[in-house]
Amino acid sequence: MKRRALIAGNWKMHTSVIDGCDLATKVAKSAVGADDRDVLLAPPFTIISEVGHVLRGSSVLLAGQNVCWEAQGAFTGEISPVMLTDIGAIGAIIGHSERRQIFGESDEMINKRVVGALDHDLMVILCIGETLEEREQERTFAVIKQQLSAGLSGVTREQTSRLVIAYEPVWAIGTGKTASKEQAQEAHAYIRSLVSELFEKEVAEQMRILYGGSVKPANVDELMAQPDIDGALVGGAALDAESFGRIINFK
Ligand code: PEP
Repeated sequence: MKRRALIAGNWKMHTSVIDGCDLATKVAKSAVGADDRDVLLAPPFTIISEVGHVLRGSSVLLAGQNVCWEAQGAFTGEISPVMLTDIGAIGAIIGHSERRQIFGESDEMINKRVVGALDHDLMVILCIGETLEEREQERTFAVIKQQLSAGLSGVTREQTSRLVIAYEPVWAIGTGKTASKEQAQEAHAYIRSLVSELFEKEVAEQMRILYGGSVKPANVDELMAQPDIDGALVGGAALDAESFGRIINFK
């Protein structure tokens, strides 16, 4: 089954207002004509509104790098799903390995974020993936299964149409080491089989599963040629307009 590709750029804690708006302008230009795929940017919260203005009228989608489960209240440092919708964002990345590893976000908290975002009609990109140690201990599948089933607890079948999974092996993020296309395909096929178990086959067939971890112009085409890879979540290369433009226009 042909699923619509999604290329998402995660700018992490980078870019000033001027640099971010300039980059977004260039990304919007690169996305012109790429009508058979979705392109999405997740800028830092300080500039998400400005980037939203730049993207208005373009096909490029806007998302947060995280989101709280509550609509409002005493949650210092958090951004709510309602606030994201208010500035024109359509979704959020949740459970990025940097949130899990550096900021100690548990599967339980990530699940609250996923359910909260979906309940507020946002699209969710749920990130999962094993560390190098876990891969070496041959625990890759066990970790994927745990993170996926815990992360999706309470999600309804109907909500899965707004759900995207990103497989991001932690050892490949920002390291220049990409999972081989075979390693990525194996993990993606496994994730799809788990989605089928958790929901049903039809949901699994429609679910977009992105690969993330040092995606570059040089490796995007072979990754995207794999049957279960439906897109890319891009960090470092998303900060360079030319590289990201080439990734958007993968062949
Ligand atoms: C990411 O931040 O999700 C990521 C995959 O980063 P990079 O492309 O730099 O490895």
